[in-house]
Amino acid sequence: MCRACPRLVAWREEVALTRRRAFRDEPYWGRPIPGWGAAKPRLLIVGLAPAAHGGNRTGRIFTGDRSGDFLFASLYRTGFAVQPTSVRAGDGQRLIDARMVAAVRCAPPDNKPEPAERDTCAAWLTAEFRLVAADLKVIVCLGGFAWQALWPVLSRCGFAVPRPRPAFGHGTETRVTSAQTPDGVLLIGCYHPSQQNTFTGRVTPAMLDAIFTRAHAAASL
Ligand code: SF4
Repeated sequence: MCRACPRLVAWREEVALTRRRAFRDEPYWGRPIPGWGAAKPRLLIVGLAPAAHGGNRTGRIFTGDRSGDFLFASLYRTGFAVQPTSVRAGDGQRLIDARMVAAVRCAPPDNKPEPAERDTCAAWLTAEFRLVAADLKVIVCLGGFAWQALWPVLSRCGFAVPRPRPAFGHGTETRVTSAQTPDGVLLIGCYHPSQQNTFTGRVTPAMLDAIFTRAHAAASL
């Protein structure tokens, strides 16, 4: 098991030991969270990092927390998920033609990984990306952190990265190509469905639905 980031290792394990009162009878995962979903996805969703009492508890990214509730409701409405909720591993949820992965695989304090931790974990993101790159049509980056994390990964996997790199924004689109994917992969920016964004209305269900409807159309081409 990876222990390359001492601060994150300490946090993921401390949270798993102390637990939140509501989950005190549940075993916590407390380890790095790999991606999950289709083995040959047309859509890849890149998130930030597991939530301390969400993915770090359930062992599945965006599962068992408010961000996941918001995200999966949209994925269900737009045809990428078979259920509107993602509560725990083994709950019957399944992604359709889609896979999701975190830029940083271990839960960070305050949901804020440091740039050095992002760079260290990029080896894992790259390894997973290589496995699915040939089948991808669309990538949705949830938040600027994921957007920034992806560029070096694309470069390492043989994609031509535009210079200057496009700035992150909600609905920002750019197409990247590689020898493996001559038709290109559409990269779409999307505000992260964090509680901070959804509670303040910065991200609404309609905004997420518009992004994933667009992703669905592009993935079907
Ligand atoms: S964040 Fe990534 S690199 Fe760091 S300990 Fe976790 S799995 Fe390893």
